[in-house]
Order: sequence, then structure tokens, then C-alpha cells
Amino acid sequence: MIVNFYERFQPKNQMCCLEDALFEGFLSTDGKYAGLLKEHFDQSGGISNILFTPSATAALELAVQLLGLKPGDEVIIPSYNFPSAANAVIKYGGTPILCDVDSITKTISLEDAALRITKKTRAIMPTHYAGISCDMDSLMKLAQDCRIAVIEDAAQAVHSLYNGNPLGTIGDFGAYSFHHTKNFSCGEGGAFLCKDSSRIDFAEILRDNGTNKAQFYKQKTSSYSWQCAGSNYMMSAACAALLYAQLLDYEVITAKRKAVSDTYHEILSGSFEKLGEKISLMEIPDYSAPNYHIYYINCKDYETREAVRKGLLADGIDVRTHFVPLHLSDYGKALGYTAADFPNSLSAFETLLRLPIHTEMTRTDCETAAGLLIKRVGELSWQRLST
Ligand SMILES: *Cc1c(COP(=O)(O)O)cnc(C)c1O
Repeated sequence: MIVNFYERFQPKNQMCCLEDALFEGFLSTDGKYAGLLKEHFDQSGGISNILFTPSATAALELAVQLLGLKPGDEVIIPSYNFPSAANAVIKYGGTPILCDVDSITKTISLEDAALRITKKTRAIMPTHYAGISCDMDSLMKLAQDCRIAVIEDAAQAVHSLYNGNPLGTIGDFGAYSFHHTKNFSCGEGGAFLCKDSSRIDFAEILRDNGTNKAQFYKQKTSSYSWQCAGSNYMMSAACAALLYAQLLDYEVITAKRKAVSDTYHEILSGSFEKLGEKISLMEIPDYSAPNYHIYYINCKDYETREAVRKGLLADGIDVRTHFVPLHLSDYGKALGYTAADFPNSLSAFETLLRLPIHTEMTRTDCETAAGLLIKRVGELSWQRLST
């Protein structure tokens, strides 16, 4: 490949942090580096109720477990999505109810979600696709009016803002991912966030095999024991150290990604007469200050997307499609969904194309990728004209 889809940012001090963690002695959770991570989120985003987990999936499971679902309880989840949220609902005894996404942002469609609220609905789980949320004020109002919880799948949205507020902190619960492919990464990692600080003690119990070990470490109890059903959802200190080294540079990482996104936007919107009817560019709503997790384009139809995708791969530009919507997946079909259920999710599946975006890309890389995209789209028009 001439331009890779993703490369991990290698901060200067990561080996020092890792070595320091290794010699600290305690490699399990909540040592020195978990403390430093907490401080980071507190200082950069005013986030105080945060627990580090092995993944966003684990954090979503914690959030769903805290809901205390009963069989038959429903949770509304957008179909254009990764399966973590739906898995968590199934695992903890509820029924995922899929809904469509908005055609512009690819985040949950509030109109469609509202239609699916019933007496059994306990929560809505919006996914902040590409680090961009839906209109969270309207979502929170809907949830408050219907007395249901909001769990933000903010896996892609670490250090993204909605009207100045960090995503993941607006709903009752939130989940971050530090998976290798995310903006800030330590291989596998995540965080659980919760708005109500009185619930963090119970989350700590659930996270540590249903024991009150955290209370024991804080010397609030003389011994610890099994309190309820839980699991091991703890992040290792080695991962915490790697993650901390990255987060020290979070502003650099975001600025570099923004530069890539801005360059694409500038070049592609400048060639709009040539591209206009074949592709359109992703839009960032005014309320959003994203972390630039993804840069995507929308193609006119599936055939256009596939022709552009294959052409760019042949050119050495590593472009990618994205989610198979849950309702189109084998398991979604087994749950009774059919292809026509969610047209905007289907359209995103067929027509969205992600361009390379990472911190190691130069302006020349962006120009090369955007230039080849324009060329490939141009060829399509030419081919159609000559046939
Ligand atoms: C990456 C991702 C996840 C899963 O994150 P893990 O940390 O790998 O568990 C969940 N939801 C969305 C929307 C994601 O992008």
C-alpha cells in the first residue's frame, strides 16, 4: 500500500511509561497508571466517574448489568453498528430492538428510535459513529420524557465533544474503546463512565467478580467477599501505561487527524463539479467537535462504491467499507429482521467508503489519496459516457 488505512501513533515516552509500570510491581488494575489516566480524564474533560476495563464491550456490559434488566425488557440500538451493545443486552437478559440511523450522520435516528419505544423499553444505546453523536439534547429529552436510560456507545468518541461536553458523559452511562484501531489505543482496552457517582461503587463490585475488593483496598472494609454475580472487567497496568503515554499527546493526535480530514475536505470539495453526482462528503454537524476517528465518503450507489473501492485498492490506497448492519447479519436475520427494515443502515452498508486517516499521514499522502479518488470517480463518468 502507498497509503495505509491505519497506523498507531507511537508516543516518545511509551517505553518509559511501560518500563515504569513493570517495575512498579503491581501489574493488575488501579495502580499508578490507572490513577494517572483518571487524572487525565478529569483535567481534560472534567470526567470523574470512570473505571478502566479490558474493552468497550466490557464497559457496555457493565452498563447494561447496572440497568438490572428483566426478561422481556427492551433496549433500542441502531442497526448500523458493531455488535457489542446488542450482545451486552442479550447477555444480561434483555431484548435488543434495532432501529435505523440518520442518513447524514449515520448515528441513531431519533424519529425511528421514538417509534420503537414501548412500555418494555428500558434504555436507548446511541453509537457515536466516527466520533460524532446524534442531537444529544433531543435524545436526552426523549429518554427523560419516557423515563428510560441512555447508554452511550462512545467507543469511537474518546475526546469528542457535543456542544462542548465530552461524549460518553451525557447519558447515564458511557463506554470508551482503546482498541488498537481507535484514536487512542493500548491494544485492547476500554473505560466505563457513569453520570451518577453513587453508582460507581456498585460498578466496581461488578467489575471485580462481584466482590467488594475495591472497598477493601480503600480500607473501607476489613475483608472482601462475594456480593453478587460479576465478572473480571479490569485493565492491566501495562495497558494503562501504554494508554497514558498516548493520552499525554492527545491534542497532537487529534490535530494530526483533523489536518487529514481538513485536507481531504478541501481537495474533494474543490473538485465538486467533477464528483458531485457520484459522491458526497461526510458532514460534521455544528454541535460536534469530533476526534476525527473516521473520514468517509458516500457514493451514489453500490456499483459506484465498489468500482471506486477496487480502483483505489489497485492504486495502493487502503480504503475500507464498514459495518454489516446488524439487521442484515446472519444473527439479525435469525432474530427476524429483513433487509428492507432499515433503509439508511442498508444504504450506509452499500455506499459508504472510509479513506485512510491516521497520525502518520503527510499532506502529500492526503493529496495522493484524494487525487486518485477524483481520478477514479472521473473515470466512472467517462466509462458511462463511452458505453
Ligand atoms: C470498536 C467498537 C466497539 C468495541 O470496542 P472494544 O474495545 O473492542 O470492545 C464497540 N462499539 C463500537 C461502535 C466500536 O467502534
